[in-house]
Amino acid sequence: MNAVFKEWCTEKGYRAASRKTFSKVLKEENIGIHHPRKDQCDTCCSYKTGNISQEEYDRHIAKKEEARQAKQNAIASANEKTVVITVDVQSVLLAPKLFASTLYYKLKLQCHNFTVYEVLSKNVTIYFWHEADGNVTANEFTSCLIDYCQNLPTTIERIIIISDGCGHQNRNRILTSALSDLAQRRQLNIEQLYLEKGHTMMEVDSVHSTMEQYIKPPIYALSDYLTRIRQARPHKPYDVKSIHYDFF
Ligand SMILES: [Zn+2]
Repeated sequence: MNAVFKEWCTEKGYRAASRKTFSKVLKEENIGIHHPRKDQCDTCCSYKTGNISQEEYDRHIAKKEEARQAKQNAIASANEKTVVITVDVQSVLLAPKLFASTLYYKLKLQCHNFTVYEVLSKNVTIYFWHEADGNVTANEFTSCLIDYCQNLPTTIERIIIISDGCGHQNRNRILTSALSDLAQRRQLNIEQLYLEKGHTMMEVDSVHSTMEQYIKPPIYALSDYLTRIRQARPHKPYDVKSIHYDFF
């Protein structure tokens, strides 16, 4: 980072501060430099190690740019009649979540959540269930998304859904036919946008990273997750829906 800083100073014609001063300022300002934590894209990694051809990589990058542009256009089109949402599922949460070492060998309850982030209003709706109530297949995600769309104000005419292209979540005929049915019943225009695999950065991801801060051990039961998540954004709390088998 210091090397990048020095290069930047030379470019701009500034005299670069010493390495020691650089570290001191970082410490004073409480800035930490880390490696990116998120996994990198498989295709991009394969290209770097020479496992895929230039054409294949170029096609991947073109698709990534196209998806990103389409997403930006969609977000820009959001208004009082057009709702733009980004949706995703958080990795499985286990209950209980404790520091006790023997817990490692016990069978824990798997909890799932489906998050909807409305881009314009920044409203967040979280559907939360556990493995005895529902699975993680297209049926569950379809129920959640249809419930969300049905409960939108009747003044809404167009819905744009941005998600990754995960088959069992977003890219399947169960969801598509349910959305098509809803569009006909409510005279809506519904569009689905899929982002390119490996480059699916979405606004909804920020919800999951905020939640991570609040769901640290000890968590004894599923209800602890619900309480913690409801507290996660004090200025604009998430709408958390605990759903059961009869919802799906
Ligand atoms: Zn990539």
